[in-house]
Amino acid sequence: MLPVVAIIGRPNVGKSTLVNRLAGGRDAIVHDQPGVTRDRTYRPGFWQDREFQVVDTGGLVFDDDTEFLPYIREQALAALTEASVAIFVVDGQAGPTDADQEIASWLRQQSVPVMIAVNKCESPELGGALAAQFWELGLGEPYPVSGIHGNGTGDLLDVVIAHLPETTPADARDEIRVAIVGRPNVGKSSLLNAFVGESRAIVSPISGTTRDAIDMQVRRGEQIYRLVDTAGIRKKKSVDYGPEFFGINRAFKAIRRADVVLLVIDAVDGATEQDQKLAGRIADEGRACVLVVNKWDAVEKDSHTVYTYDRQLLGRLYFVEWAERVYVSALTGQRVPKILDLIDQAVMQHRRRVSTSVVNEVLAEATGWHTPPTTRQGRQGRIYYGTQVSSRPPTIALFVNDPKLFGDNYRRYIERQFRQNLGFEGTPLRLLWRGKK
Ligand code: GDP
Ligand code: GDP
Repeated sequence: MLPVVAIIGRPNVGKSTLVNRLAGGRDAIVHDQPGVTRDRTYRPGFWQDREFQVVDTGGLVFDDDTEFLPYIREQALAALTEASVAIFVVDGQAGPTDADQEIASWLRQQSVPVMIAVNKCESPELGGALAAQFWELGLGEPYPVSGIHGNGTGDLLDVVIAHLPETTPADARDEIRVAIVGRPNVGKSSLLNAFVGESRAIVSPISGTTRDAIDMQVRRGEQIYRLVDTAGIRKKKSVDYGPEFFGINRAFKAIRRADVVLLVIDAVDGATEQDQKLAGRIADEGRACVLVVNKWDAVEKDSHTVYTYDRQLLGRLYFVEWAERVYVSALTGQRVPKILDLIDQAVMQHRRRVSTSVVNEVLAEATGWHTPPTTRQGRQGRIYYGTQVSSRPPTIALFVNDPKLFGDNYRRYIERQFRQNLGFEGTPLRLLWRGKK
């Protein structure tokens, strides 16, 4: 089972809002374990390369006229017992209350490490001061966050995952899920076979989430790759499945289940409209991507070929212009090992997290060179600060005076600056422009 992060606090401080934020909107898991009273819901969350589950304990009250008091305490205690870390949520705008003090002294008697999340600190100017009031709870550094806007949750999660127990690297969580997609006959199954040959290792078909989606695992060194929906790749010549079986919907499903997508293009045909659709979907789903131009052996080359080809590809597949491109031949094996290197790199960037100070250094530099636009009425856009709010793909929230003041050109400029300074090769990068409430 994944390590548990318990959320504790009195009612109305924003616990459920924060849980939604930490769990990234993913669905609840219901554990069916006999013998334990469980009406707590567990939500899967991840940060950097760590996975955990978040459990909301419900509002903790110590007020004795509450009918359910013993029950509520029992639930909270049960949640704490199994937790690796507790996040004690308080309301920064309300300041420390007596109830917070009571919960704090109760928490100090428990053995689990506790982080104080001071919620409702969306104001960049006031957040630090609001949080500082909670030093008096005697539970260490209070972290200013905003469950609604996402500020500070990255810094909080950095500390939380540092307290999670180590897990073994070779287990399922660390495998890289790869989808190989492309039009029929571009060489997907040839590439699949090349990987299997390349990895010279454990190849085990394992069942995927749907009945006919067979995944396969290959290993290179310590790294396990799960090739998603290999049935869709391999059995394509079977007549048992209708045309829809190999259709674009199947590719869309595979993209959804992958960490990184290999979009395979036929070098002879070049990028087609189908490829554009796939590229658009990869970007929309926020997946990492490597563009694999296969059958490179079949192209007559002169010294300009790669250059011309690259430009043409970029022009057609601008949705994934950030993807690395590799020219291979599944037939001769040329540069096939390079594909796995690019997968590793793209996945690393996809999971990457950049500290708030680095984000703001880039912003300061970027706005220094090129100030945000001013309207004819003289209103100028201002970026107060930015922070990375999630990964897979990296997502940076920018807190600004008014998002409407930032047109597409300036937004693209800022994104380019992030990429130029920080890389993010192979992964989409999302910028959220957020105004003052
Ligand atoms: P819970 O009872 O602790 O689970 O609290 P909820 O998540 O239901 O939130 C209680 C109230 O606080 C709701 O009205 C939320 O909209 C509000 N709230 C939650 N997070 C924030 C925040 O980051 N900033 C502000 N200003 N309000 C918040
Ligand atoms: P899929 O439909 O995308 O799985 O494509 P296949 O792997 O079945 O390949 C389709 C055809 O292209 C087969 O005849 C392959 O031999 C051929 N093919 C695959 N890779 C290459 C390559 O790198 N170079 C050349 N010249 N032909 C290839």
